[in-house]
Amino acid sequence: MATNMMDRPLLISGLLNHAQNSHPETEIISRRVEGDIHRYTMGEAGQRAKQLANALKDLGVEHGDRVATLAWNTYRHYEIYFAVSGMGAITHTINPRLFPEQIIYIINHAQDQYLFVDLNLLPILEALKDKISVVKGFIVLADKDKMPATSLPNVICYEELIEQYSDDFQWPEFDENTNAALCYTSGTTGNPKGVMYTHRSTVLHAFSSISNDVLGLSSESSILPVVPMFHVNAWGIPYAATLTGSKLVMPGAGMDGESLYELIKSEEVDLLLGVPTVWLNLLNYLDEINATLDSVENVVVGGSAAPLSMIKKFQETHNAFLIHAWGMTEMSPIGTVNNLTRAMKKMPLDERYQLQLKQGRPVFGVEVKIVDDANNEQPKDGKSFGRLLVRGPWIANGYYLHQDKSAFEGGWLDTGDVATLDKQNYVQIVDRSKDVIKSGGEWISSIDLENAAVNHPDLVECCVIGVRHPKWDERPLLLAIKNKDANVEEDDVIKFLEDKVAKWWLPDAVVFVDELPHTATGKLLKIAVRDKYQNYLMEAQAVN
Ligand code: AMP
Repeated sequence: MATNMMDRPLLISGLLNHAQNSHPETEIISRRVEGDIHRYTMGEAGQRAKQLANALKDLGVEHGDRVATLAWNTYRHYEIYFAVSGMGAITHTINPRLFPEQIIYIINHAQDQYLFVDLNLLPILEALKDKISVVKGFIVLADKDKMPATSLPNVICYEELIEQYSDDFQWPEFDENTNAALCYTSGTTGNPKGVMYTHRSTVLHAFSSISNDVLGLSSESSILPVVPMFHVNAWGIPYAATLTGSKLVMPGAGMDGESLYELIKSEEVDLLLGVPTVWLNLLNYLDEINATLDSVENVVVGGSAAPLSMIKKFQETHNAFLIHAWGMTEMSPIGTVNNLTRAMKKMPLDERYQLQLKQGRPVFGVEVKIVDDANNEQPKDGKSFGRLLVRGPWIANGYYLHQDKSAFEGGWLDTGDVATLDKQNYVQIVDRSKDVIKSGGEWISSIDLENAAVNHPDLVECCVIGVRHPKWDERPLLLAIKNKDANVEEDDVIKFLEDKVAKWWLPDAVVFVDELPHTATGKLLKIAVRDKYQNYLMEAQAVN
């Protein structure tokens, strides 16, 4: 039957057009890599994005071409997001913290035509330049007088480039299912894999994320996304803030406590977004200078689990509610959000904090289920563990130019996380499925054990892995780094854990180490630890 609704495409350029028309005075404030603070409006950003689109067209960038960025959160990066995707090309954001071989791999895999780079990230490219010959030119995000001497070939100054072009540009219209942005995830094994977002997935994700129960963005908001624009599009905030005309405060490369606090205070920021380690640094700095965050109402925390101490500290010292959220690169990234509800408002604080430790409920658009190894759905009792599967309109159904579809069977994405689900649909992430310890048919959360152990005053960092065991298949082994002068022993640690976890969860052994390996994104590299220690208990038994 014919429908009577207009079939207008959901395009990223539509977000910018909307902001230019309805929120032209909304401010975007950036700490530039050069060190100073830059201020302008969404209206001006829209004009400069059009100048850039004209420039890129002249440079030969065509529909579907990949154009890369190696850059911090600033106004120029924002302009590139909209210009490149808006003209029908693909914004490919590169994480500068990846290992050099990974950066080489993804530039070549994506076949990036041009690469925008921040001044202080130039050395990364200079070291790789001979291995990325596909790139036609490097556009340095700087004023003319700040252009550095560089060994890179075909270097263009961003400001010099765009000043030559007019802002007379009509964003083209095309199918909303056109590719718009590309971001590679860095797993612990193999090469990074590309997740390609479309215009439709990006706009729908933005629509969902602004709502009150999700991130609650509006034209009243002043938002500081510390989560980088090279990590899942800063959780989609540049798009969402443009939809709502929210003031955007961009931290540039300054993610230390002092730099963040300065911006939060001067720009009256009410919403912060970032990973726990960033907030730990900020909270420590605020303690040192004895200051509180007076304007902040909400802090969105994701990427890894928000600890109880952080939830409490934000609430009790800074009167800010911590919105715990979960997602992943493959999910644009928002999957579940734990925002304040009417029921939570009435709970005693300690009960509410316990609930806030969960990663929240799926936002509209995202469906979740947990299954066991035989793919049987597990009960929603808040206790049963299962592999967390998701589906939805902003969730990938495969990786960019990649054959392996094993994570995407039956129309669901296997997130690689293990979780519980409760009656209210709250998800709690228990572990990564590769890391959960399968002991005699039962599952033990390595993360819970690590969190419990690291509270020991003499331990700095802990890593729990499942290692081979003749009777139980796997048993937990705890590797721990001691405080410098501590003389804590294995028995002390086990005793410390006894009243914190179930008896059968207690590690079979504790090994003290001087350091633990990490991935480029700061997560423990458990695969390397497992390689080294997988036979630890077998060997110990053989000796005894
Ligand atoms: P990435 O794709 O790099 O953003 O990493 C996604 C992964 O980070 C997820 O699959 C989880 O394992 C982890 N993660 C994200 N948010 C949380 C959270 N709130 N709590 C625990 N783990 C999280």
